[in-house]
Amino acid sequence: MYKGIAASRGIGIGSICRIIEHDLSFEAKQVTDTVAEKDRFHKAIADFVEETNAMAEDIRKRIGPKEAEILQGHAVMISDPAMSGEMDKMIDSGQCAESALTAVCDMFIGMFSKMDDDMMRQRASDIADVKVSVLKKLLGIEDIDISKVAPGTVLVCKDLTPSMTSQIVKENVTGIITEIGGKTSHSAILARALEIPAVLSVPGIVDEVKDKDTAILDGTEGDVYINPDGDVLSKYMLKREEFIRKQSELKNFVGKETLTADGEKLELFCNIGTPKDAKKAMECDGEGIGLFRSEFLFMDNTHLPTEEEQFEAYREAVETMKGRTVIIRTLDIGGDKDIPYLGMKKEENPFLGYRAVRYCLGNEDTYKTQLRAIIRASAFGKVKIMVPLVTTVDEMRSVKALVDSIKSDLSAENIPYDKSVEVGCMIETASASLIADLLAKEADFFSIGTNDLTQYTMSVDRGNPDVAYLYSTFQPSVLRSIKNIIECGKKAGIPVGMCGEAAADPLMIPLLMSFGLDEYSVNPVLVLTARCIISKWSKQEADALTEKVMAMSTEKEIVAALKEASKE
Ligand code: PEP
Ligand code: MG
Repeated sequence: MYKGIAASRGIGIGSICRIIEHDLSFEAKQVTDTVAEKDRFHKAIADFVEETNAMAEDIRKRIGPKEAEILQGHAVMISDPAMSGEMDKMIDSGQCAESALTAVCDMFIGMFSKMDDDMMRQRASDIADVKVSVLKKLLGIEDIDISKVAPGTVLVCKDLTPSMTSQIVKENVTGIITEIGGKTSHSAILARALEIPAVLSVPGIVDEVKDKDTAILDGTEGDVYINPDGDVLSKYMLKREEFIRKQSELKNFVGKETLTADGEKLELFCNIGTPKDAKKAMECDGEGIGLFRSEFLFMDNTHLPTEEEQFEAYREAVETMKGRTVIIRTLDIGGDKDIPYLGMKKEENPFLGYRAVRYCLGNEDTYKTQLRAIIRASAFGKVKIMVPLVTTVDEMRSVKALVDSIKSDLSAENIPYDKSVEVGCMIETASASLIADLLAKEADFFSIGTNDLTQYTMSVDRGNPDVAYLYSTFQPSVLRSIKNIIECGKKAGIPVGMCGEAAADPLMIPLLMSFGLDEYSVNPVLVLTARCIISKWSKQEADALTEKVMAMSTEKEIVAALKEASKE
């Protein structure tokens, strides 16, 4: 048995398909038969163009024309005589096709990435994409098309990138096993959204397995078996049935209010990444959106989305939610989320670097465009603005000043918006937690981001498997931090929510109830599970357990006590 991090619940049983990262290095050779070399080169381009156009057509049907255009643009780009003509000339001078392709692409990438215009900078990352694809053709490397894997496939890969995840057809992938990534890495969050069992950070797993090996993974416990014997297989088939049965029992909670055992009403919101996810939140019975990760709009794009594009996306989410609260978090990039066309500098310590509100306040035009789009969307429902990675009171004041100036502009332009749109603060840094009393005077609401709060409190990289044993929201320091934040919010009379993954953790829920958390924002697929757990605890019982647990000194003791008291 292999052990990894339990990242997405459920039992996956299936046949392995490995997704391998290829080595794209090549030997720069001199060629004498330049005609044959040019033929080889043009054949690679023709194959790339044909495949790209076919993929674009598929995307046009499955996703939409705008997304398809991006790929079509790649095919047009490489066929442009300014590019391919330059490459031909280099081959004529005796360079091999791989060298010519790399040199010309790198020259254009260098040129475009230095330009001020965002559209132009975006071309640099498009060219980099095209370069890799054509190079693979020249080197005879075939990529697996994840969207075409057979039903019953377990994907095994080093890391699951958001772009890989977007190709997954949920019906065909029964499990995901990776070598890196933690419980709150974005790949884990995406796996949960797709409801695919996942175990992450299994050391060396890619080299340990072969294609078509049978895999069992338990995404609740973090266990993986390769080519298990009959007994293990039968045991896990039963476990899978049991999991499915429990999931179907949750249907009893559909359409119900979220009530504690003693009848207190709590709010159960959803975390989403795209406007389309708002539909999922509604289908899953979410009572609002507690976190719209707006950076996905920027990451799934080839250029900085314009005010209109953003406005349409936010409006779509807001209209879908039909008057329920939608908390839109402003751009949270950096850390593990890169946006190639922004040309951000590589940093030694990206999680401690120029990310989120720091980047936004340093790039005011980009930020104002986003804030304007969000505030305009407030005319169509109940929108709230949320600021990520706050560490100082000054940051909150600066954002609020920008919001006020945008509101004045919109009023002057007679553009409708909600005059009472609220600006809240994510509490996800140690600094914010320690000054929660001061921030509570600046913010209309708090939302606790336990994914980062745990990382920054414990000084552990949330995706690093070597220190994963320390990454736990049940560490006494993290629990004290959460308690303090909620108390400061309550004292100042502002609502406190939680949008970190801990809000849906069955062991954490009674503690949060006792601390007085008002709003729980969870992955849509976990709404009913969270509602069911909340319904089982009265305030009195939660208080008694919390008092006992908060007096304990170690994470182990705390988790053991919570497991013993669990009502799952
Ligand atoms: C968090 O840090 O808890 C959070 C919700 O934000 P993200 O996971 O997007 O960093
Ligand atoms: Mg965060």
